[in-house]
Amino acid sequence: PAATEPAAPEPASSGPLDVLGVPGEINLDYAASAPCARAAADAVAELLPWYASVHRGAGALSRRCTLAYEQARQTVGDAFGARVDDHVFFTRNTTDALNLLARALPAGTTVVTFAGEHHANLLPWPRGSVRLPVPTDPDAAVRDLAAALTELRRGSNPALPVLVAVTGASNVTGELWPVTELARVAHRHGARIVLDAAQLAPHAPVDLLALDVDYLAVSGHKLYAPFGAGVLIGRADWLDAAPPYLAGGGATSHVGPATHDVNWATGPARHEGGTPNLLGAVALAAVCTALDDADRAALAAHEQALLTRLRTGIAALPHVVELRTFGPDAPRVGIVSFVVVGWDSSAVAARLAAEHHIGVRDGLFCAHPLARRLLSEAAGRTGRRDLPSTALRASIGLGTTEAQVDKLLAALADLG
Ligand code: PMP
Repeated sequence: PAATEPAAPEPASSGPLDVLGVPGEINLDYAASAPCARAAADAVAELLPWYASVHRGAGALSRRCTLAYEQARQTVGDAFGARVDDHVFFTRNTTDALNLLARALPAGTTVVTFAGEHHANLLPWPRGSVRLPVPTDPDAAVRDLAAALTELRRGSNPALPVLVAVTGASNVTGELWPVTELARVAHRHGARIVLDAAQLAPHAPVDLLALDVDYLAVSGHKLYAPFGAGVLIGRADWLDAAPPYLAGGGATSHVGPATHDVNWATGPARHEGGTPNLLGAVALAAVCTALDDADRAALAAHEQALLTRLRTGIAALPHVVELRTFGPDAPRVGIVSFVVVGWDSSAVAARLAAEHHIGVRDGLFCAHPLARRLLSEAAGRTGRRDLPSTALRASIGLGTTEAQVDKLLAALADLG
């Protein structure tokens, strides 16, 4: 449709998991930031009149805000299966959560991760971390991790801590990683494991206890809440012993006159110095509640049907090549990366936006090692030497419709 064509009416909206949007604009970039759910918008609107300081005031407004913030912590912790002795820290996003954990690692910790990770789960880790190659399939990931941990334990002091850092679902391909098996291997070797659930949590329930992972990081803005609130949940001991991530007001239990005369708080306050993001926390909690109340199996089935439609449509276009790490049938969430042969990916993205009002992402998706590897794998698989050097990504979620998927497919077909 031309830019001036009147927008199709959006479906009437009332449920807590309806997402807000702009009529006529098609957002197929949920993996970057998902649209805001009505539950989150309503929670913010309800609290705005009460807006006052958190943990810092005695007035009725302030007390309500403090209560709301701590209730949000409880709700989010419960939603992700936090154990009774876990801490739940509100952070800005997943990047912030993983950086917080990285700063809390005991001295001498080795972090083991895979080259298939988002930069947020590659770059915060200390020097000397082990980066395993992108595995060819989920079983290989488990085998490679077991071999690496065996080797590490043989070579180093077995008392030194090891942390395995893995994603639940790839932000490039949407493919699911074998988290439970990786956790089992990590624990068998005396290591801990952190799950980057930024992409998994918007598509499936994530439960620390059930997955048996030690730490979990999530971003609110990918989970239908507004920007600026994320969460790190996990074992208290390292975090209570670590220097405060954000030194300042609220992170102390006592400050004396001498510069070194400080007692840092334990618990979430230790790493949450400064005035917290109440609205972000409350919005994230509201989405968690709405998702808990929803029929997640039905939501997932709907998303998988749309994903199949999208992938089948792409497979039928000879000039469009899907990127993937594992086999074509590997389970995945609603994310597909691809290239259009003979087209620069940024030109395709710009054209989709300008001519079709479709928003997708182009580039290497903050996962350069993985995206480059998949581009070269796609060139090998298809025998095409003229693939572009960056890719396109379409990602779907709660507000996505068949008509939107079909519009993307039709627009891509036009490029052939
Ligand atoms: N991990 C994964 C798998 C992601 O997809 C992203 C965001 N693209 C991040 C971490 C970082 O999330 P944020 O930008 O919200 O910190």
